[in-house]
Amino acid sequence: MSVIVNRKAWPIDRNRHHKKFKQSHEYKKLKRQLIKKQKKEYSRYIGSPKWTNIRNELSNEDTACEGCGSKSNLNLHHLTYKHLKNEVPEELMWLCDECHKAVHWYQKHGKKSLLMATSLVTNIDIKDLKERLKITELK
Ligand SMILES: [Zn+2]
Ligand SMILES: [Zn+2]
Repeated sequence: MSVIVNRKAWPIDRNRHHKKFKQSHEYKKLKRQLIKKQKKEYSRYIGSPKWTNIRNELSNEDTACEGCGSKSNLNLHHLTYKHLKNEVPEELMWLCDECHKAVHWYQKHGKKSLLMATSLVTNIDIKDLKERLKITELK
């Protein structure tokens, strides 16, 4: 006698249980811990010699904020975190402190995507930003 398993029903059930789990206190706690860990890892990377090298390689006397053109207090902003620690130059953008903080403010409080927030602050068309990232897919 063989048991017929209706596999099609599985994902639906799984999704339902997963949804329940996502509303639980445990899940929220887990998520908070994960974000904390990621932030720690990120700031460790930003302070590493490797990141300093990338910054040095990408900067010259013409380097300026892509938002306002300022040449002081520049940060290298990630257009995507896809290749974090293995960045392609096209996915990095120089932004001054003010423009950079504005991008992440829009992202957090305006609930905009990273690219949309960048587009709003720099006035660069989101299509052009996407085009810029396309190059990184090939590398
Ligand atoms: Zn700026
Ligand atoms: Zn940034």
